Amino acid sequence: MSSRRSHSFPLPFVPSHKPPPEPGERPILFAFRRRELLVSSELALPSVEEIDAIGLEALRTQYLGQLDGRHCYSAELPEDVEVSAGFRFADLRTLFGSLDETMHALAGRAVQIVEWDRTHQFCGACAEPTVLSETDRSRSCPKCRIPMYPRLAPAMIVAVEKGDQILLARSPHFPAGIMSVLAGFVEPGESAEEAVIREVFEETGICVRNIRYFSSQAWPFPNSLMLGFQAEYDSGEIEVDGVEIEEAGWYPADDMPAFFPGRVSIAQWLIRDFLVRNGHPPPD
Ligand SMILES: [Zn+2]
Repeated sequence: MSSRRSHSFPLPFVPSHKPPPEPGERPILFAFRRRELLVSSELALPSVEEIDAIGLEALRTQYLGQLDGRHCYSAELPEDVEVSAGFRFADLRTLFGSLDETMHALAGRAVQIVEWDRTHQFCGACAEPTVLSETDRSRSCPKCRIPMYPRLAPAMIVAVEKGDQILLARSPHFPAGIMSVLAGFVEPGESAEEAVIREVFEETGICVRNIRYFSSQAWPFPNSLMLGFQAEYDSGEIEVDGVEIEEAGWYPADDMPAFFPGRVSIAQWLIRDFLVRNGHPPPD
């Protein structure tokens, strides 16, 4: 389906936590100041030579794996680092469209590894300094032996449809006027489908049935794995809590409210899929 991202084998990126003896030719480096990526003023990823030339010193680096045979690394820069003219730091959200899709996805992987490494230097149970595992992507406490993996928070996102209408809602933190499909985090002990049923009911008072998996997307803001579903309306009237959701409604494809434009996020893929099936493909 055109609105879903296709996947081909082999995938271009092969992850690994074991660094090679040498970085090899044209290594790729994702350098971060907190969650912001070092980019050129044209919002492109600088080469390792360009980064070396401005004399930046990383606090910590991690090996990520290989992209088409090129070794990839992440680096954590000091919080007070300043860069010279021609470079800047940018939030990954602002780099959709300027970094290519594969590089953007890799930068999303890199920022989560940098954040995990930065925030797991000490054991949460006994405060002992942790050590990096040689066998997998984890740090562990030499005293408690508690392994600490990068955090990943599964979340569900769902397009609920009633005949030829889609359920869209407005969260108070969306830009003015924008509506989108419903989303929420999966709770401990819950299946993704149970999270769909619970979240849709909690946020809109609507009961759903016939939940079908759609697609998934890594969403590094800050560490989600978005699991996308489509579901059918079963029963109930829309009732919003006014806190998490301030407005919700059923919309036909030919009378949509404003929604996030583009096709970078799974919310957009879901809405696009609904519009295409209902004869109103949105402009790119
Ligand atoms: Zn410990």
